[in-house]
Amino acid sequence: MRGREIHLAAHPVGRPTSSEFRLVEVRVPSPAAGELLVRNTWMSIDPSTRIRMSGVASDYLPPFELGAPLAGWAVGEVVESRAPGFAVGDPVLHPLGWREFAVLRVNGPGRTAPEPIDVNAATPARAYLGPLSWVGLTSYVGLLRVAELRDGDVVFISGAAGAVGILAVQIAKLRGHFVIGSAGSKAKLDFLRDRLGCDRTLCYRDGDVRALLRDAAPDGIDVYFDNVGGDHLEAALERMRPRGRIALCGAISDYNRDGPAQGPTNLFNAVAKGITLRGFLARMYAGEMDAFRSELRGLLAAGKIVYPEVVFEGLDRAPEALIAQLSGENIGKVLVRLG
Ligand code: NAP
Repeated sequence: MRGREIHLAAHPVGRPTSSEFRLVEVRVPSPAAGELLVRNTWMSIDPSTRIRMSGVASDYLPPFELGAPLAGWAVGEVVESRAPGFAVGDPVLHPLGWREFAVLRVNGPGRTAPEPIDVNAATPARAYLGPLSWVGLTSYVGLLRVAELRDGDVVFISGAAGAVGILAVQIAKLRGHFVIGSAGSKAKLDFLRDRLGCDRTLCYRDGDVRALLRDAAPDGIDVYFDNVGGDHLEAALERMRPRGRIALCGAISDYNRDGPAQGPTNLFNAVAKGITLRGFLARMYAGEMDAFRSELRGLLAAGKIVYPEVVFEGLDRAPEALIAQLSGENIGKVLVRLG
């Protein structure tokens, strides 16, 4: 059997371009004992792919190798099973996207093993790349566990119109918080205000983020959910109230940077105000997944969650989808439909 996958052709410098990706047709190996062959139906597009394309080793996720396939979250159907507990047709979630077919070891280490998912009329498979995904868990634990959200907190969320941000905004709003969201366009601010109920919004392209946040939060903020880093983190440090808490989720303003990352110049605010800055990865809170999905299923069934998707059709459009996401063209989750 043959299938297509996307390989890393070159390490990008700055924003990725289509020339760093190569669509390749390969022979799909047969699964060995303990393995599944899965036909991918949907894949997730995530900014972390850009970090892994740089080829630099880090504690985060292993870098992609030149001439080898990219990877990322995907859902699909088992087409051949050589492992007990999995049958042909079963839907699974797994980390080998960016290809049409994946061979997966069911007792593989960490999160490399395929996870059976419950798909029904109310919950399509792609929901496990969206509101019920690791990205969804990121929003949930980032607010509730990492930032330790407390009654009455004023919350600032950057990258608020993206996949992590939209859920974080809604989780905070459903708990009655005053929420300030930042994003990169008027259309996104309109969405945040009109559809998600954001109390204040700011477009970071309109000027200095510190000045914009001063206007949006004249009395300060208690929690900052940081998806962006750089100037947003600096602005938040300035506006934090004493004992404020910052959840460091991502630093997308650095991902396409050629030179060194831009650190905040006013970190002394953390000392002076007793601010907690805590970085996290969703996988560090894997034990919370069941509680998170259970709460989200209830909210989705009650029609209380808005979760827009931007869908690109076909594996060959996956590079375009990632480039569009990094350029801020998406409101909500970016997905690729494979079949
Ligand atoms: P996303 O927000 O759907 O897409 C990325 C968005 O970032 C773009 O739409 C763009 O929107 C914004 N952006 C791009 N360049 C920017 C810049 N220089 N300054 C400010 N904003 C910029 O992506 P996501 O999946 O929700 O991820 C959001 C963040 O969470 C990323 O930093 C990601 O790495 C992180 N993350 C962390 C974890 C974890 O476990 N810690 C898990 C998943 C994701 P604008 O139009 O607003 O610019």
